[in-house]
Amino acid sequence: MRFETTPRRRRPPKEEAEEVSWEQLSTITADQRTEAEADKTVAPSACPNDGTPLVAGEGGILHCPYDGWQYPRDARSREGYV
Ligand SMILES: [Zn+2]
Repeated sequence: MRFETTPRRRRPPKEEAEEVSWEQLSTITADQRTEAEADKTVAPSACPNDGTPLVAGEGGILHCPYDGWQYPRDARSREGYV
């Protein structure tokens, strides 16, 4: 009788699992970062120029009664998306 020794390569499955979860973690973090940036585009409640509370006009357009600043029109031009 002859035993054939098949060498089993033992890989530590735990380490691999940790690597995957690290990748998932970074993906989740990226998603959360995107969500946080999306929150920044939420309409402001006050004029960035003078802090006057914005008033909602026709079509829900927010504007500053003090200097006429409008959201989102002036917010976009300020960021350079024109
Ligand atoms: Zn203003």
